[in-house]
Amino acid sequence: MDALCPVCGQPMSWVSGHFHCDADHGDFTQIALCPDCQQPLQALKACGAVDYFCQNGHGMISKKRIQFTYSPYSEE
Ligand SMILES: [Zn+2]
Ligand SMILES: [Zn+2]
Repeated sequence: MDALCPVCGQPMSWVSGHFHCDADHGDFTQIALCPDCQQPLQALKACGAVDYFCQNGHGMISKKRIQFTYSPYSEE
């Protein structure tokens, strides 16, 4: 799945832990949202796979239903 820049909609490159827009719109991190409540999902890593879990009562969310959003990435 491509990560699309929230500014220009073009696919972004993966650069050392974050996404980078080649058109210089900056660096972004990907956030998985629950399709039912639009809240960030908790990522549960198990056996090399990642499952996404809604803490607002929607339970495990199928990867097909997850909505992704991007927020500016800042190095800390
Ligand atoms: Zn861009
Ligand atoms: Zn939810």
